[in-house]
Amino acid sequence: MRIYKNYVNGKWVHALREEAFEERNPANLNELIGLFSSSQKEDIEAAINSSNDTFFKWSIKTPYERSNYLKDVLEFLKQERISLSAIITCENGKTLKESLGEIDAAISEMEFQIHQGLRLFGNTIPANRNSVLGLTLKVPLGVVAVITPWNFPLNVALRKMIPALMAGNTVILKPASLTSLTAVKLIELFEKASIPSGTVNLVLGSGSLIGKALSTSSRIHGLSFTGSTEVGLQIQAHAARNLLPTQLELGGKNPAIILKDADLEEASNAVITGAFSCAGQWCTSTSRVVVEKDIYEEFIQILKRKVEDITVGRGDREQTQMGPVCGERQLETVLDYIHIGLKEGATLVCGGNQITDREYSNGCYVAPTIFKDVKQTMRIAKEEIFGPVLCIMSCNDFEEAITVANNTPYGLSSSIFTKNISNAMKFINLTKAGLTHVNMPTAYKEPHLPFGGMKMSGIGIPEAGKTGIDFFTKNKSIYLNWN
Ligand code: NAP
Ligand code: MG
Repeated sequence: MRIYKNYVNGKWVHALREEAFEERNPANLNELIGLFSSSQKEDIEAAINSSNDTFFKWSIKTPYERSNYLKDVLEFLKQERISLSAIITCENGKTLKESLGEIDAAISEMEFQIHQGLRLFGNTIPANRNSVLGLTLKVPLGVVAVITPWNFPLNVALRKMIPALMAGNTVILKPASLTSLTAVKLIELFEKASIPSGTVNLVLGSGSLIGKALSTSSRIHGLSFTGSTEVGLQIQAHAARNLLPTQLELGGKNPAIILKDADLEEASNAVITGAFSCAGQWCTSTSRVVVEKDIYEEFIQILKRKVEDITVGRGDREQTQMGPVCGERQLETVLDYIHIGLKEGATLVCGGNQITDREYSNGCYVAPTIFKDVKQTMRIAKEEIFGPVLCIMSCNDFEEAITVANNTPYGLSSSIFTKNISNAMKFINLTKAGLTHVNMPTAYKEPHLPFGGMKMSGIGIPEAGKTGIDFFTKNKSIYLNWN
């Protein structure tokens, strides 16, 4: 069987030790997707050499020249939309519709970020001397490492690579092992666009080995990571030794508050979209619902009726609404949490089991699960489960709802459902989350609004209008004596 290789300095190359790891389809673990280079520290070194060697050549191109390459990548991405969606579904498990949604989101983010990269404006600042002009310039960081998760394997990679490249950096991509093929196919688009060798390098393999090698290197100049808080903390500790700038987009435990004046039909649809799309594996998934006590049982019954109707199956089947979770380890984690919830005394409303009969027998399928009577002290209310498991909590009033919603180490996204504008505004002010929504799912986002978390959900929420590119540049101050 073919081994998918690293892409270093414009060539597809085997890892130096020629070892490989395999990837399987989470819809049916008997289906082997492929073998992939299992890289070591030496392979990372080769990529770092290439990226450093190329940096000067790429950074002196004008933003306009750089945009021409990336516009070609965008065009090829549009052409490969269908074939790429099949690959994402086969590696990640999400439905084809969700994979196409990911690609379309990536296309619109890319369009925004290419244009944004043409506006790398500095400032002119009056100096204290008459003949001196003060200026600031935006300059690239240098070699940027991009480490991505498996839940949005295409969109998260592009969201980092495009602004990094537009700003004049060279990029090393280390994708999640579970979605290596999407990364290979993505890099093929850059190759087809004839991007100069060494501008973009791809290294496949284990995060704890090569991801760590990137975060400890003194020859990397910026690192953008999306993944778990646990790994983010390790990266931050390593990076601190070299004062390496990091951008960390981490986990969440995102709440939705349902007040008694909410439109319960609309609110339930938004909660279900937030909780069960992509089998609950969005960083911005709704994982806790805090409901006012007067409508608590009514709202749960509405959710139960709709969630029991969700068709679970292979992502490549037309009728499927929710696919498997992404792989055996993920399956084990989610089932563990369901077990923990039961042991802690939460009440199961629906789901709560792996689906194993007939065509499901070799896949990673979990029935969409709802727990009610969840208490703030329970682990399922505190820890990120990252699967199709929703926790429902009751509260006496609006004030208590906000306290419960904020009672988490995370702060990525939140929502409130109400018709009361005054309560909505109070919530907007008091919610401790980087993104917040009124009468919309926690997972909703658009490319030109800043994206990022508070507390343990990450660092570096950019300024509005500068989302994406800000992290990948630094400022230089210039004093120009023209006399
Ligand atoms: P993960 O286990 O943290 O892995 C993320 C990436 O880091 C993978 O490429 C992984 O490689 C690599 N990695 C693992 N250990 C490493 C280390 N010691 N040093 C450097 N890199 C290392 O996360 P995941 O399971 O792929 O993704 C799920 C998590 O991502 C969830 O917590 C979710 O909330 C979060 N997420 C956050 C956002 C956001 O924007 N805030 C968006 C999407 C996902 P391997 O695959 O080879 O292990
Ligand atoms: Mg993980």
